[in-house]
Amino acid sequence: MQVDVLIVGQGICGTMLSWFLQKEGVSIAVVDDNAPGASSKVAAGIMNPVTGRRYVTTWRIEDVMPFARRTYESMGEALDARLLQQKSVIDFFPSPQMRNAFVERVKEDDTYLHPYPDHNGFNPYFHYEFGCGEIRPAYMIHFATLLPLFRTRLSDKGQLVADTFSLADLELGLDHIRYGDITAGRLVFCDGAAGINNPWFSLLPFAANKGEALIIHCEDLPGGHIFKRGLTLAPLPEPGTYWVGSSYEWEFANDQPSEAFYNRTTAHLQAWLKKPFRVVDHMAAIRPATLERRPFVGFHPQFPRIGILNGMGTKGASLAPFFAHQLASHIVHGFPVADEVSVHRFSRILSK
Ligand SMILES: Cc1cc2nc3c(=O)[nH]c(=O)nc-3n(C[C@H](O)[C@H](O)[C@H](O)COP(=O)(O)OP(=O)(O)OC[C@H]3O[C@@H](n4cnc5c(N)ncnc54)[C@H](O)[C@@H]3O)c2cc1C
Repeated sequence: MQVDVLIVGQGICGTMLSWFLQKEGVSIAVVDDNAPGASSKVAAGIMNPVTGRRYVTTWRIEDVMPFARRTYESMGEALDARLLQQKSVIDFFPSPQMRNAFVERVKEDDTYLHPYPDHNGFNPYFHYEFGCGEIRPAYMIHFATLLPLFRTRLSDKGQLVADTFSLADLELGLDHIRYGDITAGRLVFCDGAAGINNPWFSLLPFAANKGEALIIHCEDLPGGHIFKRGLTLAPLPEPGTYWVGSSYEWEFANDQPSEAFYNRTTAHLQAWLKKPFRVVDHMAAIRPATLERRPFVGFHPQFPRIGILNGMGTKGASLAPFFAHQLASHIVHGFPVADEVSVHRFSRILSK
């Protein structure tokens, strides 16, 4: 088989790059091993325009969130599935100081932050003492719907190699790339946390970070919201089912779910929720985060046929569509990749 671009990995990055290249009429093949612990399979899929305890507007959100929303909508039409839902984040203040910080931030910038008028409205469901604020619009992206549907579409078109990519089967020529019986013009790695050990890109400043989540069943919580109080509790498409997380561990022994997270999170839920719940799943993954919290996009300075789309950190749902589109436009039209995400900012490191 002869293709223009061979892609390794079908998490949200590989899926988005495949989508935009196909739209441009570029022929592709995707190698993916369908690992259950891939970051995109564990993620909540939240697009939140505000980050952290200081309620800072998320980097480039004005560009990436509308673009991502339109992309998920049009993919949803093509795949005949609902891939996103608009929500608001209800943020329960952990202290009077945090409530004051929120009120001050609303005065400075109320684009996404809003006072929540009915402070006692969530009393039947949650324990909270210091009120709540609202962040909107936010979105939930249903990765658990999107990724398998897109995988089936790739498979139906004969574009999927459902296997582990093996370097032993790769031949790098001056004017071509051969992988098994596939000949490609370019090879792009969208291999998530595995990129940390990628022979071409392992020198990039990755900062791997482990995160865990529970899936719980709990009846009767009010719809339309993602709830936050230390933990995030986000509604999944199946009624009464919620994603609960997460942890951010910079040092970890393995990528498996831990008893410590389970115990800590269920204790937190017992203290927070007034409704009974039961845990139905527990997952963990390594986030492909980067030291300076910016993605890695583009082609290797010394091996111009080998590219990367990675380093989405905690924000793959919003960043992947935008930067996959940039990379696809670079491949097809030669448009530049933005300096702040281009791997060429690490040319010196990558040339070692
Ligand atoms: C607990 C948790 C919660 C999160 N919540 C959110 C959230 O709410 N919102 C948000 O935006 N982001 C969230 N994230 C971050 C998000 O998951 C990532 O930014 C994003 O999914 C990364 O996507 P990716 O495609 O780069 O990597 P991945 O999803 O890891 O995909 C890589 C793919 O490549 C495959 N692969 C790797 N190596 C090989 C190989 N050698 N051969 C074949 N296949 C290979 C893997 O199996 C996988 O399918 C969360 C992450 C975690 C861990």
